[in-house]
Amino acid sequence: MGLFEKLKQGLSKTKKALIGNVKTLFKGRKVDDALLDELEEILIMADVGPGASASITEALRERVRQGKISDTDELESALREEIRGILKQGHRVMCSGEKPYVILAVGVNGVGKTTTIGKLARRFTDHGFTVALAASDTFRAAAIEQLEIWAERAGAQIIKHRSGADPAAVAYDAVVSARSKGLDVVIIDTAGRLHTKSNLMEELKKIKRVVSREIPSAPHEVLLVLDATSGQNAINQARMFDEAVGVTGIALTKLDGTAKGGIVIAINKELDIPVKLIGVGEGVDDLQDFDAKSFVDALFE
Ligand code: GDP
Ligand code: MG
Repeated sequence: MGLFEKLKQGLSKTKKALIGNVKTLFKGRKVDDALLDELEEILIMADVGPGASASITEALRERVRQGKISDTDELESALREEIRGILKQGHRVMCSGEKPYVILAVGVNGVGKTTTIGKLARRFTDHGFTVALAASDTFRAAAIEQLEIWAERAGAQIIKHRSGADPAAVAYDAVVSARSKGLDVVIIDTAGRLHTKSNLMEELKKIKRVVSREIPSAPHEVLLVLDATSGQNAINQARMFDEAVGVTGIALTKLDGTAKGGIVIAINKELDIPVKLIGVGEGVDDLQDFDAKSFVDALFE
């Protein structure tokens, strides 16, 4: 299956809830205020978020006022343009410049950090880069084992300590060892226990400090992993992690499992952080670069 087909399949639930309902709504209707109100409700229901939903429908109302939209076909293509206009295009997650390129992955428990790291590691090794994974989620032994399995699958090395060890010490070892071996990429897995929120943030800050003491420009990417099924909560998580460690990109997982993929639009509207990667399944191939144009095309086509 091609990338675009996979994306379409991954977005099928969202497509149904969002564009499917829009098409049903538009059938046989004329373009008026009532229709635009109902459209706004559909957007909100699909987790596009109140802010983005209001701004999209306001822009459409303005087009109607200016006489630029006369029927629902034109309204649908205008909707597509407005959604496309909100989506930002971030840079691809790739390594460049000095070695090792360091990616710090953060996010709350269960969002898909370890899985995303595994998929990403595989992508790097497929491109011929050498990769080390740092098992800085030291809270549970199972977390280290899970990362080990992904390292094996991806052909990456793993740097690990005992469970309960200092996460920053693991990250330090990974960076130092990768540098001495001349490896291309280090990806640091971290814990996400939110009930110890301030500890978690302090732990992440410490990892960041320790890494940048060794390599001043590192981490080159702070990748926040968010679960698309968590809806508007994802926005709050992004603000919290960004404030603590400065997020440079978002990986949005589990889009395949939700009708609430409209959250992509909300994230783009509410935050200044680009969505760089999307997860559309649990398999090693189910991680895609977020491409604004393909995303909209997959929703509407
Ligand atoms: P972590 O606690 O943040 O490290 O989360 P994990 O990587 O352990 O993932 C939690 C669960 O989410 C696992 O069962 C993964 O297989 C699943 N998962 C991760 N990404 C995706 C995705 O894009 N789609 C689906 N359907 N499941 C995913
Ligand atoms: Mg994990």
